[in-house]
Amino acid sequence: MVEELNIEKVWELLNKVPDPEIPVLSVVELGVVRDVYVKENRAEVTITPTYSGCPAMKTFSDDIISQLKKNGFEEVIIHTAYNPPWTTDWMSETARTKLKEYGIAPPQGLAKNSLKLFAKNLPIPCPRCESTDTRRISEFGSTACKSLHQCNTCLDTFDYFKCI
Ligand SMILES: [Zn+2]
Repeated sequence: MVEELNIEKVWELLNKVPDPEIPVLSVVELGVVRDVYVKENRAEVTITPTYSGCPAMKTFSDDIISQLKKNGFEEVIIHTAYNPPWTTDWMSETARTKLKEYGIAPPQGLAKNSLKLFAKNLPIPCPRCESTDTRRISEFGSTACKSLHQCNTCLDTFDYFKCI
C-alpha cells in the first residue's frame, strides 16, 4: 500500500523524530519545525535551531532526512531559519509535561520574563517532588541548554531546561 505523501503525513513522521538529547520529545514538540512543504515526492522542511551552537542541530537535519526518505520521499531539503530565533515559548504543553516526567524541570514562564526570573534567582520547582526549596549548583547541566540544580527536600539533583 502506498501512502499518500502530503503535508499531514510529513508532520506525522516528524512527530516521531526524537530530539537527540531528550528522546522523550519529538522535534515537533520541541518547536524546532517551523514549516513543511510537499510537492509530489519532495519534502522541504524549515527548522529553527534551538540554542545557537547546539550540536544537536546537525543530528536534527540528518534524522529528519532519513525519517522522510525511509517513508517514501525521494528528495528532502532542510531549510534553516534563524529569524525569529527559537524560544522555549514554542515548546508545546505536552513537551513541558514530558520533560518533567523525564526528570528535567521544564522552562519556567515565558522567555521574555526569564531574565528577571534568573536575576532574582528564584527557585525552580523540583520535577520529582514539586518542592520549590531548590538551589542552582551550576550554570551548565548535562548540556549547555540546561543548568544543574539540587532539591533541598528530596536531595535529588536535576537539570533545568533553561528558558530562552
Ligand atoms: Zn525534590
